[in-house]
Amino acid sequence: MITDQLLNKAEIKLRKHDIRPTHVRKFILSLFLDAEYALSHADIEQEICKKFDRVTIYRTLHTLHAAGLLHTIRDDSGLTRFALVLSSTSDPHTVEHLHFKCNACGHIYCVPDFNIKDIDLPENFDVHSLTMSAEGICKYCKHNKTGDKTS
Ligand SMILES: [Zn+2]
Ligand SMILES: [Zn+2]
Repeated sequence: MITDQLLNKAEIKLRKHDIRPTHVRKFILSLFLDAEYALSHADIEQEICKKFDRVTIYRTLHTLHAAGLLHTIRDDSGLTRFALVLSSTSDPHTVEHLHFKCNACGHIYCVPDFNIKDIDLPENFDVHSLTMSAEGICKYCKHNKTGDKTS
């Protein structure tokens, strides 16, 4: 549920990043503020229910990503999902964190407290991306065992 409170929070965040708080940007950012897990393009389209078209959603995600408000997560099927950049102090492009995938509902959660620090590589190797993931059961599926086997 997108509330006025969420929309206001989104507007403040956008202004802080020098992005003009248009209605669609506020709305899409609010979805991320509300969601605990990463959202794919299809998830967003579903939430928005034809309020905005595909291209607008795509462009908005790109803008928010380029501004450092969102980061991307590629899951094992190659699908890209977006999630909020949670730490405001660190550079989102260098600080990576753990991602947890729930095997029951398929959602991917950010675990920002688990930062992946620099690793020692052989000389002349450069890291361009570093990912770390965990799989298991999320707290919602654990509490709702009946929903386990639906997929
Ligand atoms: Zn789950
Ligand atoms: Zn993340």
